[in-house]
Amino acid sequence: MTRSGAIAVIGAGIVGVSCALHLQRAGFNVTLVDRLEPGDATSFGNAGVLASHGMVPAATPGIVAKIPKMLLDPMGPLSLRWPYAARMLPWFWQFLRNASPDRIEHISNALALLTLDTVEQHLDLAKGTAAEKLIKPAPTLNLYRDEAAYNADEYGWKIRRKHNARTTIIQGKMLADYDPILSGEFSFGVLMEDYGYVLDPALVVKGLAQGFTALGGKILTAEVKDIEIVDGKPRRLVLSGDTLEFTQVVIAAGAWSAKLAKKLGSIVPLEAERGYHITLTDPGIMPTGPVMATFGKFIATPMSMGLRLAGLVEFGKLDAPPDYARAETFLKHAKTLFPGVQTKEYTMWMGQRPTLPDSLPVIGGSPHFDNVYFAFGHQHLGLTIGPKTGRLIADLIAGRKPNIDLSPFRVDRF
Ligand SMILES: Cc1cc2nc3c(=O)[nH]c(=O)nc-3n(C[C@H](O)[C@H](O)[C@H](O)COP(=O)(O)OP(=O)(O)OC[C@H]3O[C@@H](n4cnc5c(N)ncnc54)[C@H](O)[C@@H]3O)c2cc1C
Repeated sequence: MTRSGAIAVIGAGIVGVSCALHLQRAGFNVTLVDRLEPGDATSFGNAGVLASHGMVPAATPGIVAKIPKMLLDPMGPLSLRWPYAARMLPWFWQFLRNASPDRIEHISNALALLTLDTVEQHLDLAKGTAAEKLIKPAPTLNLYRDEAAYNADEYGWKIRRKHNARTTIIQGKMLADYDPILSGEFSFGVLMEDYGYVLDPALVVKGLAQGFTALGGKILTAEVKDIEIVDGKPRRLVLSGDTLEFTQVVIAAGAWSAKLAKKLGSIVPLEAERGYHITLTDPGIMPTGPVMATFGKFIATPMSMGLRLAGLVEFGKLDAPPDYARAETFLKHAKTLFPGVQTKEYTMWMGQRPTLPDSLPVIGGSPHFDNVYFAFGHQHLGLTIGPKTGRLIADLIAGRKPNIDLSPFRVDRF
């Protein structure tokens, strides 16, 4: 059977759903295609933080120097599946090349264009949908053991200050007053103002998707197996069992986007940066807001289904099975952070962050086909910058001039 669509968006994670909704609001007829229900891949289990100051790239001189030690720690925040290491070498080489001061400046300037107004972008997109009530404007607490640990992170704070990130330092008693459940082991905190968080990242995507269908948008549950070129232009998705014709297509398939982009002539060094969560379903206590625990490089976020502990970076094959032993370190860390927390009841999850070696996403049109658009590679920031990505893609397709320079996000920059 052949259906005729107008714009096809492949991928119903936070990025694809944001593209679909913005395109619909711009007046287009849109079909969203995903092999899963909306929000059931990487967008399902993230830490839920809307990181308006998330412009510090992963590759900084400080991090690069720490990588060997982190890799050798079997329970550390970074791991590499060794059989996969040889395949990763060109990616790591590009990653390291992005740790120079001029590249860091370029990358953080570009990321800031996407992150700074995240809360506003979310509230605007969610308006009138079930996602609206799940978005909470609130600071995230960056927690350090002491001032020396904070000073060791100066590189990142300098970048944030350059972008006028508003922060409030709280120490000693002020910290205990801010959140009495925190352990006294930690004496220095930075409240990152203008942040927000969501009470359930999966339900945010599902709420947005319902808003899209309520206004006539179509969602097809099917795997995109191929994209067919007709008379020199991509025109048809080959799905499991049928096909879908389109005028324009948006590739927003998260960590699975590289294969589809390659089919359309664009080769990108996209890797899955796998991460984990444990959600404590009966924690007994809840923090005031999200806490970024710098000692274990994880985030603890109060959510509607429990207290979520999320983080870790694991490089391995895209669809390799999860290694939950590492995620169990969150249970120990949670006790260190919140001595009164109950850790008996929990659920576990693994997701694949779509990551490019320069920490920037791909947002923009194809250099080969004028009806193909890309929106993927959102690494640790997909929830934060998904809605803005959707707005930018809708601007491009509607022929409106985007209000930021999109050249840093070009697909052919590698
Ligand atoms: C542990 C962890 C914590 C995180 N915390 C945060 C945070 O606090 N804040 C933040 O901003 N970000 C966070 N992130 C990052 C964020 O979750 C991701 O960047 C984001 O979910 C990526 O969204 P996406 O829509 O690009 O991909 P996905 O949500 O993975 O969606 C892609 C979709 O494409 C579909 N798809 C792929 N290929 C095909 C195909 N061929 N046919 C049909 N469908 C296809 C998939 O089924 C999937 O549903 C975190 C990530 C992890 C892992």
